[in-house]
Formats: sequence, C-alpha cells, structure tokens
Amino acid sequence: MNKFSWYEAKSVEDALEQVNSTVSDELYQSSENATIFKSGGVDVFDWVKEGLLKPQMIVNIRNIPGLDKISYDPKKGLRIGSNVTLAEIGSDPEIKNQYLALHQAVNHAATPQLRNVSTLGGNIAQRNRCWYFRSADHNCYRKGGDRCFARHSKTGENENHAILDNGSCVSVHASSIATALMAFNANVVIVNAEGKQKTVPMDDFFVSAGEDMAMENILQAKEIITEIVLPPPSKNTKSSYIKQVARESYDWSLADVAVVMEVSGNTCKSASIVLGAAAPVPYRSVEAQQAIENKTINSENATAAAKAAMAKARPLSKNDYKVPLFVSTITQTILDIS
Ligand SMILES: Cc1cc2nc3c(=O)[nH]c(=O)nc-3n(C[C@H](O)[C@H](O)[C@H](O)COP(=O)(O)OP(=O)(O)OC[C@H]3O[C@@H](n4cnc5c(N)ncnc54)[C@H](O)[C@@H]3O)c2cc1C
Repeated sequence: MNKFSWYEAKSVEDALEQVNSTVSDELYQSSENATIFKSGGVDVFDWVKEGLLKPQMIVNIRNIPGLDKISYDPKKGLRIGSNVTLAEIGSDPEIKNQYLALHQAVNHAATPQLRNVSTLGGNIAQRNRCWYFRSADHNCYRKGGDRCFARHSKTGENENHAILDNGSCVSVHASSIATALMAFNANVVIVNAEGKQKTVPMDDFFVSAGEDMAMENILQAKEIITEIVLPPPSKNTKSSYIKQVARESYDWSLADVAVVMEVSGNTCKSASIVLGAAAPVPYRSVEAQQAIENKTINSENATAAAKAAMAKARPLSKNDYKVPLFVSTITQTILDIS
C-alpha cells in the first residue's frame, strides 16, 4: 500500500475543493497526485490495498455534517443522505412500511458489520466485482486494456457475470441496493464544484459499458452525491425484493429482483421491475413490465413476465444457470406482491 495523506472534509464545498479524481479515472489512467473521496471506505481501501489505486490524498467525506439524515414526508417522499449507513436504512421503520423492497434489499446486502460502515452514496458509486477487473495482472477493457478475460469461452471464469447487455464488458454492477432504488424510481442528487445541484433519475445515473467502458456512473471528479430521493408511494403501491446467493451469509448477488407495482385488487395497474447481477448496470426489464401490466397477478402471468425478461439473455460459457434462476426469481418476486 502506498503512503497517502488524509484530509477531513468539513463541508461539501470543502471536499469538492480538495478532490481531483474519481476512482474510475484513476483505474483507467492513474496519476501520482490523485485525491479521491472516501465515505465508508469499504471499496476505496480494497483498491488501495490491492495496489490498483495509489492516491496522494484521501478526502474523508464521512463526517460532513448534514449528509447523514433520513426524512420521510407522505407528500414529498423519502430523502436519504449519502452518508446514511446501510444499517440505518435497514432499521428505519418508515422505510420498512413504505418502501419494503428497499428494506429487504438493504438487509440482504453484505454483513451486519459491513452495513454498519457502508454508506448509501458509496454503495451506488462502488465499482464492479469482476475478479479480472480487480486483479493487477489483468489489464481488461475497463482499465484501458484490449480484452475481456471473463468472456473467453474456455478460460473465462464467468459464472457470476452478465447475461444481458453483455456485448462489451461482461461484469455485473455490485450494488444490489441500486436494484431496489431504481425500481422505486429514485433520483440521485449531485452537487458540483460551482455549488450547482442536479437531480438525476437512477435510470440515467448508471452508464452502460457500451456507452463508456471506463465509467459505471455519470459522476465526474468534482461531483458529490448528497442525497437519494424516492417519490412518495400511493396507498396502492406494493413492492418486493429477492436476492439469490451461493451462500446465505455475506455473499454478492447471483440474481436479484425488485418489483414495485401499483395494484387494484389483484390486478397490476403499472409495474417497475429491475434486475441486479444481470447486466453491467442495474437492468430495467421493460419487457417484464409490459407483460404484467393490466394483468391479474397469478402464477401464469408472473411466469410469462419472467420469461419475457429473459428473451434477450445471452449467457456466457459458464453462467447459463442464470436464465432459469432469473425466471424463477422474477416469478416469485411478482407473486410476493399479491
Ligand atoms: C464482502 C462484501 C460483501 C458485500 N456485499 C454487498 C451486497 O450484497 N450488496 C451491495 O449492494 N453491496 C455489497 N457490498 C458493498 C458494501 O456494502 C459497500 O456499500 C461498498 O463497498 C461501498 O460503500 P462505502 O461507503 O464503503 O464506499 P467507499 O468505499 O467510501 O466509496 C466507494 C466509491 O464511491 C465514491 N463515493 C463515496 N461516497 C460518495 C459520494 N457521496 N459522492 C460521490 N462519490 C462517492 C468513492 O470515491 C468510491 O469511488 C459488499 C462489500 C463487501 C466487502
């Protein structure tokens, strides 16, 4: 691990004055005078310990006052500060009542210890967990190299990788919480160095590998996430989330699904269906949404929607198990709504 200095940011403006790089910039073209944000530090210190990131200075934004609040207003919705920990979100009674799928997603992420330190801003900005991307010995597309090691049909270890939108990089996004946030049509509030604030729908926050190989989200170096905002649910909103893992405790998702629906009796009036660990970024399945809208929520219609979601799946050499896994998980998540 290289030596770096530490800066304790006192405010958003103070942090933005210090920082000059994102983790994405540094992995792509590392410079010797990089200064980067650290919130919970779980992901940042992984990179630093592996020697893939060699910052000159780390700017600690974890203690900036005001970014650690949760507030709920039945008319305006839910606001979660970027420094709120996953543990705090997981134990909030209003979130459990009004945004059940988010409560479920958070409580199935990582471990209790990790949830105590991981923040929401850091969670959605963390980089993917492809072992080739995280290995100093593999200069893959994402780091400016000329190949995808995971894609190789014989030598590629691609069990955990993408089955949708996997034409270039085949990693899957690491945040399983983003799956639920996107299903609730959350917005990301970002402030830049000029103090300007923009509110970006979660659907536009993530950058597909086909659009830009170096990025997984739109964040620029001198930008900071301050809040995530979720619209208020109506009295007919219902939601559910399921995550499939190889081991019950602290494991990354193999397939996770969030469903948010407006219902009338047992009929789906509108649906928001998002898949995690399916594609390089959280994947909204418009096909599944259209297949279940204005239908009775029953086994037959839920299975038809799940199969529609998988129509464009292109599994790799070792992950075709994900297709039936997603079909059963989407079906069950929809049925859990009724
Ligand atoms: C064993 C293990 C299992 C895990 N399992 C899961 C899981 O199942 N599901 C899941 O979703 N996550 C999982 N995680 C991820 C973990 O819970 C953290 O959310 C994640 O590592 C980053 O959170 P952090 O606050 O520590 O971010 P940091 O490491 O501090 O930051 C991560 C990135 O975000 C940037 N950043 C941080 N805050 C901001 C901000 N406010 N504005 C702009 N940029 C910012 C940093 O510069 C950095 O690039 C797991 C982690 C481990 C180690």
